[in-house]
Amino acid sequence: MEKRVFDFSPGPAVLPVPALEEAQRNLVVMPGVGISILEISHRSPTFTQIIQQAEANLRQLLNIPDGYRVLFLQGGAHLQFAMVPMNLLQGTGKTADYIVSGSWGKKAMPEAERQGAAHVAWDGKSTNFNRVPKDSELDLTPEAAYVHFTSNETIQGVQFANEPAVGNVPLVCDASSDFLHRPLPIEKYGIVYACAQKNLGPAGATVVVIRDDLVEQSAENLPPMLSYRAMAEGKSLYNTAPVFAIYMVKLVTDWLIGEMGGLDKMYALNKKKAKMLYDVVDQSGGFYDGHAEPTSRSLMNVTFRLPKPELEGLFVEQAAQRDLLSLKGHRSVGGFRASIYNAMPLEGVERLADFMRDFAKNNG
Ligand SMILES: *Cc1c(COP(=O)(O)O)cnc(C)c1O
Repeated sequence: MEKRVFDFSPGPAVLPVPALEEAQRNLVVMPGVGISILEISHRSPTFTQIIQQAEANLRQLLNIPDGYRVLFLQGGAHLQFAMVPMNLLQGTGKTADYIVSGSWGKKAMPEAERQGAAHVAWDGKSTNFNRVPKDSELDLTPEAAYVHFTSNETIQGVQFANEPAVGNVPLVCDASSDFLHRPLPIEKYGIVYACAQKNLGPAGATVVVIRDDLVEQSAENLPPMLSYRAMAEGKSLYNTAPVFAIYMVKLVTDWLIGEMGGLDKMYALNKKKAKMLYDVVDQSGGFYDGHAEPTSRSLMNVTFRLPKPELEGLFVEQAAQRDLLSLKGHRSVGGFRASIYNAMPLEGVERLADFMRDFAKNNG
């Protein structure tokens, strides 16, 4: 095999090598099946077992209580931006609250405005989205249809350490870039959704964990592909499901349960990895300028700038010499972003931390 580099891309992103290797072994012929995973029917016994196991793995990892459905949908997080208000806002006469802590929250909200009334419960724009709000700062609508927030803002690298307090209003979370990075108290949520291609698998599948009463509330007038109720009744197989992507979600969750030993251990490792990089930032004597306020720092996307933009080209070039790739930040934040999802090995983060220390020493 050709050597693998350490790729810090925000998504599609690094996957666990054992999951890739198992997929590779089964790519031409699945043992006992005689054809490949790419060729089997979504209604075959083999795939039925795969999708059931993927769901069972998620239920085990997140301790998902009874009373929640797990759906495997398509259309990425963007379709959830639309499906949430289509199902739960339009026709209700209610208002949906949005906590806008970065680019993705900002992108989600207009989809609610198409369907009904949407209200900004908090907006981090005035400080260029460098922190998440305190509960006391939230301007919540009583009896809102739901409150939507983004647990980890992938572009800015700001993350909620805990769920915002929203009382009895259903809490809806876009967890696309931090799903499965720690245990979640699912009972605090109405809906948690995540596209797969950050922390869960390849692009093509989107996991939606949704409370039964919200499935029941789904608007009646929707095409089945846009209806939580129809997708739940069809057990995520209303139409041809993204077979390969769901298979990869199964392999990635097998890895989390098996080799990684579950989400408590994964969380501890994620904290350790993130701390390595933030320590370099904090101990650089101001050479590195971290974007996020320390209490809002993301464990998944570490964002920082250099003292002089002229150094950015050199940083990219010298990082690449050490096989450290895809570090350039989003243009709205500038600088750099190291995405260190579950599957980024500790060794990759150590190598990046060493590089950053050397670079600061040589250019500071
Ligand atoms: C990547 C990302 C999205 C967009 O996902 P798509 O699958 O491309 O629609 C939305 N929200 C967050 C938090 C993301 O990280």
